[in-house]
Amino acid sequence: MDFNRLISEAIGAQDLIFNDYKFHKNNQELHLNATLPFKKAICSKCNCELYQFHQWHSKTIRLPQMFMAQVVYLNLKFPRGKCYFCERVMPPQLSFVHPIFKTLSCSFVEKAGRIMEETTCAATARLLKIDRKHLWKIDQWRMKYLNQFLALPEDLDVSKMSADEVHFLTKRYKKREGPFSPKYYIQYITSPVCTAHSKVLSTAMGRSSVSLAKCLNVLSEEKLQEIQFFAIDMHQEFFNTVKRKCHNAEIAVDRFHLIQSLMETFNKLRIDEFKKAKKKKDEFQIGMLTAKRRFILMEKSPVLSTEEDNMLGKLKMLNTNINAGMLIVDYFHRVLDQKNYSKFQSMLKEWFGIVKTAKLDLFDKFAKKVQKYKTNIEAYIKSDLTTAISEGLNNKIKVVKRVGYNYRNPESFQNKILQRCGFLNSADIDCDFLFWHVPNPQV
Ligand SMILES: [Zn+2]
Repeated sequence: MDFNRLISEAIGAQDLIFNDYKFHKNNQELHLNATLPFKKAICSKCNCELYQFHQWHSKTIRLPQMFMAQVVYLNLKFPRGKCYFCERVMPPQLSFVHPIFKTLSCSFVEKAGRIMEETTCAATARLLKIDRKHLWKIDQWRMKYLNQFLALPEDLDVSKMSADEVHFLTKRYKKREGPFSPKYYIQYITSPVCTAHSKVLSTAMGRSSVSLAKCLNVLSEEKLQEIQFFAIDMHQEFFNTVKRKCHNAEIAVDRFHLIQSLMETFNKLRIDEFKKAKKKKDEFQIGMLTAKRRFILMEKSPVLSTEEDNMLGKLKMLNTNINAGMLIVDYFHRVLDQKNYSKFQSMLKEWFGIVKTAKLDLFDKFAKKVQKYKTNIEAYIKSDLTTAISEGLNNKIKVVKRVGYNYRNPESFQNKILQRCGFLNSADIDCDFLFWHVPNPQV
């Protein structure tokens, strides 16, 4: 067996001759010494043979982990010579060396890149024993590079879509217009999700109708008309875009957003009651209504100890508003649980009745909102869309943001979302060639 050839081919450099090696057992470091013979050298610029040998040069290139060796270096000796074509003294072409990260092989960069599709730069840096800032640059370059191959699968099922915005940055104004103008502004990123594949299709800065329109531009006119249900939050700008672009889509208001809005309402009620209790100096109610115990009141079927359960019972007896609020919330959950359309309608009617008898201004306001979006809520029930996917993806995006210690650069954050939650990765783009060679590396 020709080990020389095996190793040569395995690192993507067919023409090397391996002279010797040193394996440091204590730190699993392998140093390979190899030479590129002059007769195999071709001009790095014009792929033409070199004649007239000039001198030997050497460089060290990092290779991916090999067998037990965790860190592998290739000390390469290569010749320079005159090129037949351009008539200049040229270095030879070394296509297995990465054209941007010149001390690393293409295979090392691609391997690192694929690990970073799954985990953070810091974790990859520990696994591969390399500087993490270096890896960050690799990840950025690779995402940009793969972007040119980004395409949606042809059999993409877009019948059910949803769109949401994620918080990107809260920035301080450098110059404020006046003493009462806001100090901060928030930047959002809009990301439509294809529910059947649970993937983010595209991203755009902002949360305006323009942002969503920009995102939807990745879909062909035909695909846009294939959308049957589009779940969005109660945000008028998104409504307008969906109406304008997807003529066959019924707009569904997502359960997640409804519940979010409901919980905000309930929280306001809790705060109001908390203030009242403070005025009355009712220690028990203050204790039960503080933000710290919020979860007891607000979580759907929370796990409570017997003591907490008893205390909650007592609170409900003492405070009719909170009791009514909890009842409204609980019943609303049950309304949304309905799969049967006519059952849903009758239960919703009952729910409106409950809100009416409760006579709480806050919930009256919420009920008006529900009334306004009734057809959209009905569309949600009909579509059988589950929130699990959009909610899950939203969480995933938040995790991406936190794990990256918040992104500053909108482009890199958008790429990262597409890499982790969309189609911008090696699972969806055929990029095996990058192990061997990087054509047109500049992006
Ligand atoms: Zn040349």
